[in-house]
Amino acid sequence: MLPFKKWIQKLKRVDKQDEPNFIKSFNEDNAYDGVNHNEHWNKFKLEADYQVEVVDRLLEDQGFLCAYCEIDIYRRDGVGGIQDIGVEHFHPKSSFKDNIAWVTKWSNLLAVCLGGSNSAVHDPDVRYGAPDLTCDKIKANAILDSAILNPLHVPGAPLLFKVSRTSGELGVNAEACAIAGIDAELAQCTISQLNLNADRLKKARRDTLNDVANALIEQVRRGRSPAEARQIIAKARLTKSNGRYLRFFTACRSYLGKEAEVVLGSLDPH
Ligand SMILES: [Zn+2]
Repeated sequence: MLPFKKWIQKLKRVDKQDEPNFIKSFNEDNAYDGVNHNEHWNKFKLEADYQVEVVDRLLEDQGFLCAYCEIDIYRRDGVGGIQDIGVEHFHPKSSFKDNIAWVTKWSNLLAVCLGGSNSAVHDPDVRYGAPDLTCDKIKANAILDSAILNPLHVPGAPLLFKVSRTSGELGVNAEACAIAGIDAELAQCTISQLNLNADRLKKARRDTLNDVANALIEQVRRGRSPAEARQIIAKARLTKSNGRYLRFFTACRSYLGKEAEVVLGSLDPH
């Protein structure tokens, strides 16, 4: 086992860079009154540097995956459809709890998908599922700070979730939760409150894992051992390419098992 700090930095959970200068200066120049949150947020979004410094930074930090369901998210350019990226407030932006301006607090912002709410997105078979909404579209303005896991606080390892390859259903690894000191019920509530087992997501997860299975078969056909094949595919699926992760990182990681943990550095290869 490598020292904690060495491997935690390599793992896919949401690890944010420092607060962008834009947010710092906006908050200094625009006192938030705790009442007009929508006006404050709209003013923030209309500033010229918002897309570049906030949205781009969120996407870069998250490797272009929704912070909740881990589907790959896109700007409009190049893939058709509307931009299917939203900026989510983990703690609702309408709240003024603890006298904090949650509306423009960097650590409170996450890039997410559109939760199946809009049929005009690229690849709607996978991304559109209304009225069965997911992610922040079902969470809405609920305060779930202690009811679900904050993606920023999910431990890098061990992996708290597991997935069924045949159904694509996401579940909780109770043993891993116990090791991490996290209530398994909290992990389960994260799945249910964000509707991460919506039919649309289960099917897309299952299709992705079938692709992984076929890739493994192909590697074995080329003469690799099953373990070598899993390590090759884990490297391909779980590392960024051009700044992007492939969709359903956690499901793939769960399916690829020990070799995924070796690739991610949470287990010693020997
Ligand atoms: Zn999502």
